[in-house]
Amino acid sequence: MPADLSADRTATLEPLSWRGTVEREFFGLPRVHRALLSQAPLTITTLVVVIFLALIDPALITNLLFVLGLSGVFLLVGVAALLRWKVLPDWFIWVIPLADFIAIGAMVHGANQSLSGLSLLSVFPVLWLAWSDMPPKFTRIIAFVGPLTIAWAPFLFGGVEPSRAGLIKPLLIPIIMLGLATAATVVTKSLQVQAERLSAATGEAQLRASQLDSIINVAEVGVVVVDGGGHDLLMNKYQQAIHSLALPAAKADSAEAELLVFGPDRLTRVPSEERPVRRAVNGEEYSGELYWIGSGTGQRAMSTSARQIVDECGARRGAVVVFHDVSEVMEAVAAQEDFVASVSHELRTPLTSILGYLELVLDDLDDDVAASYLKIVSRNAERLLRLVNDLLGSAREAMTLTPQMGDLQAILVSAVDAARHRAEQRNVRIHLDVESEMLGSFDRGRIGQAIDNLISNAVKFASSPGIVEVVGKSTATGLSVSVRDDGIGISPEEQMSLFTRFYRTESARQAAVPGVGLGLAITKTIADAHGGTVTVASTVGEGSTFRLSIPR
Ligand code: ADP
Repeated sequence: MPADLSADRTATLEPLSWRGTVEREFFGLPRVHRALLSQAPLTITTLVVVIFLALIDPALITNLLFVLGLSGVFLLVGVAALLRWKVLPDWFIWVIPLADFIAIGAMVHGANQSLSGLSLLSVFPVLWLAWSDMPPKFTRIIAFVGPLTIAWAPFLFGGVEPSRAGLIKPLLIPIIMLGLATAATVVTKSLQVQAERLSAATGEAQLRASQLDSIINVAEVGVVVVDGGGHDLLMNKYQQAIHSLALPAAKADSAEAELLVFGPDRLTRVPSEERPVRRAVNGEEYSGELYWIGSGTGQRAMSTSARQIVDECGARRGAVVVFHDVSEVMEAVAAQEDFVASVSHELRTPLTSILGYLELVLDDLDDDVAASYLKIVSRNAERLLRLVNDLLGSAREAMTLTPQMGDLQAILVSAVDAARHRAEQRNVRIHLDVESEMLGSFDRGRIGQAIDNLISNAVKFASSPGIVEVVGKSTATGLSVSVRDDGIGISPEEQMSLFTRFYRTESARQAAVPGVGLGLAITKTIADAHGGTVTVASTVGEGSTFRLSIPR
């Protein structure tokens, strides 16, 4: 099964395995079963005793009272099995152990003391009552009175004159039964409490599981949970729909490699090992990574995040991967980019023409006043054109480069020269420290633009008076330029958004430093297009260092 979006498509929350066991506990059984189970030990023991007696004293079996008692025990099993317990009140179940005492009494006196141990059979109805619902107090009274009645039956019902010894001697068994009943009721009570607690906990766990199930299935995000071995534990309905998008048409159970998972360009297939769930299975955590799932018009953009599940000892137990459909947002962004690109394109043509004609007019103009006005017009038109070019550059998704062999040293020198005038106005000193030769293959115009952006920002945001330091170096792998200023600096939170289009820091906005927040986004696009990087290190109040690195 493919494990890149998830393997098992039908998984929901696992049922609790001990649930059934709890329900089968003795106290949860129907009364007919409880009655039969409780009566069984007495019946089986009586049967064994009868066989035993038949062997040692066959004459006893013919004693009427004994046979009546014996029949009573077996009859009570039948009664327990046949009674319609559902229509009888709860307490009716106690009638059977109480009747047991009568049957045992008949057997004891039928055996006529020849088998004195027979009265120990009272232990069964005593236990019977102890684990029934009878209040413990009554159970103890009956446990004592029942065997005592059996022992004193000759005095109570047989007209025999009670003697002191005859009354006291048989007290032993009722006392033992009383002790036994006390112990048994305590144990039974605690078992009942445990069973109730367990059942409450089970109910709670089941409720939680079904709540979680509902939440997960109602959420408009895909959720996959995998265990430490990468097997699916859970996949919600939304994710099942996303998964089916990834299946190539007419292939319900495609191999992992065939699944339609693409990178941010919507065209490049993501290799199995780099797919969202696989990465999480391999122990990675990430947030907001963009994947495109499916193909053609049905293709959807998914922002995916993964978190590891660890137990209390810190061992990895699996991972949760969440898929959030951001197709609408991506479409809105694309529409915005299209709009910016087409508007800036439309503006650029007339602006270029205005600038061209202005130049012609200025060349032939003798009127100094008019010329000074037109120069202002020309300067502002140039500023407008730069802005339009920036907008157009930032809207372009993939920047096209024309790399050539060149010397970055020359570009740095001219970028610093170009910034000097503005730096002097702000009383900022620019210090350039560059190697005599920094050869490499790059798009000269684009890299020049990126360096201009960094230096002009440093001049804009440096202290006044202040200093900007530009350092150019060749490294083992490429070329690197760092631009450091001693200005306002950028907070760590703001650094995270710095390379986003139109982003400006709070302090830049408050200080009304001119700019629209496109320079760094363009610089990053240029660095990316060269396979390089642009990074920032900054401390608020101390200054910032931007570093542009490109491979040679
Ligand atoms: P712009 O300079 O046109 O506003 P950028 O994209 O070049 O656009 O810069 C974006 C924002 O980043 C700036 O508005 C400013 O808030 C911040 N920033 C850039 N460079 C620096 C710097 N050297 N020091 C402090 N803040 C900076």
